[in-house]
Amino acid sequence: KSERFLHSERLNVVSELAASVSHEIRNPLTVTSGFLQILNKSTTVNPEEKRYIEIALQELKRAEQIVSDYLSLAKPQSENMVYSNFETEMEYTKNLIIPYATMHQVDVQYYFNNSLNTKYDKNQIQQCLINLYKNAIEAMKGKGGTLSLDVSEKKKTIVIKIKDTGVGMTKEEISRLGKPYYSTKEEGTGLGMLVVYSAIDKIKGKIEVKSEKGKGTTFVITIPA
Ligand code: ADP
Ligand code: MG
Repeated sequence: KSERFLHSERLNVVSELAASVSHEIRNPLTVTSGFLQILNKSTTVNPEEKRYIEIALQELKRAEQIVSDYLSLAKPQSENMVYSNFETEMEYTKNLIIPYATMHQVDVQYYFNNSLNTKYDKNQIQQCLINLYKNAIEAMKGKGGTLSLDVSEKKKTIVIKIKDTGVGMTKEEISRLGKPYYSTKEEGTGLGMLVVYSAIDKIKGKIEVKSEKGKGTTFVITIPA
């Protein structure tokens, strides 16, 4: 069944939230944490003050995480629009995620066989893919597994499959995907899937989720060429 209908009303919230987030938030965050790190090394800082600085740094890191999870939701920029077959974005994001996969004993398999083109914002698609890969790897945390990325074409549509051998989800859990701040992770932002649904909706794609608790999850994204 199509998950698009289910998530469509959430997308309004997405654009509203996105409008208030910009690349500029990153700079003050970086500057502030830089100065706090310097302060933390000072010999005049007592242990209690040190503890406050560390909490502040931790909170800044969390803010940074939130920003990076949905930075790409900012309005599509014309210079980012491409007419292409996803190969560049698939290769780029796969290489980007490999160190994170290795760190979690996850093996990455990759197949690309698509000649169909479509128009999309390359930054948004990259962010969407990264968020999906990150979730897949995090679902295999502690025991490792395989992340399979597969792009193919089927009757004028581009099919992207992202499969993991992780913890899996129940029907109920699947229905909550993309809901702002829904996260089962201690350090999660619950914004990653919001970005995914938003980006795919913009290119009129559909997302199908197949999952089995304890076995793994497959996201099948179908995009009209
Ligand atoms: P976050 O990763 O910060 O928790 P997301 O929006 O990216 O937020 O994901 C929301 C939740 O959906 C996750 O906390 C997790 O419970 C679930 N989830 C997403 N992808 C997967 C997956 N591949 N396998 C299992 N659970 C998943
Ligand atoms: Mg996530």
